[in-house]
Amino acid sequence: MQTLTSTVFDLFPPAPRAKTIMAAGVAAWLPFARAAAIGWMPLIVLNVSGRRFQTWRNTLDRYPDTLLGSSEKEFFYNEDTKEYFFDRDPDVFRSVLNFYRTGKLHYPRYECISSYDEELAFFGIVPEIIGDCCYEEYKDRKRENAERLMDDQEDNKDANTFCRKKKKKNSTLHGTSNSSVKNILSFHQLKWLYMNWGLKLIRPYMPNLPWEEITN
Ligand SMILES: [Zn+2]
Repeated sequence: MQTLTSTVFDLFPPAPRAKTIMAAGVAAWLPFARAAAIGWMPLIVLNVSGRRFQTWRNTLDRYPDTLLGSSEKEFFYNEDTKEYFFDRDPDVFRSVLNFYRTGKLHYPRYECISSYDEELAFFGIVPEIIGDCCYEEYKDRKRENAERLMDDQEDNKDANTFCRKKKKKNSTLHGTSNSSVKNILSFHQLKWLYMNWGLKLIRPYMPNLPWEEITN
């Protein structure tokens, strides 16, 4: 489970192999683990569309200009569940939360670029801080997407122009505009009505005519 794994890794990161690394690693996390254990550092639960992530409050406080690092996140606090609830994409949120933990923002290759940007924007994180390891990929995907959108717009424009031209051509071929077609139809209908009424009027005076053939 995401919650448990995150919590366990926050409190007890994997044991480093070398003694020197261990000393540095322990120095980094042990004070936090102790503080958390005695309740000095409150753990908070972030529920993102049903997936729960846990982190220390001060991990989020590192970036006060972002949504999670500021008091704005209190709008999303649920008193009943004691959780912060965000109706957002939990997959992208992994990258968001990792940014608070490590200070490095990564771009997962499998994520849709637009969706990723939207999530970052929601949490108030600027994509310019994406790490060197992912920045080129991010920029490439961004450019590809922009080009695709431009192509789509061009296609739509061409399609509209084609439709307009076709319509105009049809009107010219039939020697009339759309409104004239309507007028001509009305004229035919009117002619038929007049004939029908006229025939009905003279019918009693001319009983020898083949009325069925005329009216049909
Ligand atoms: Zn990266």
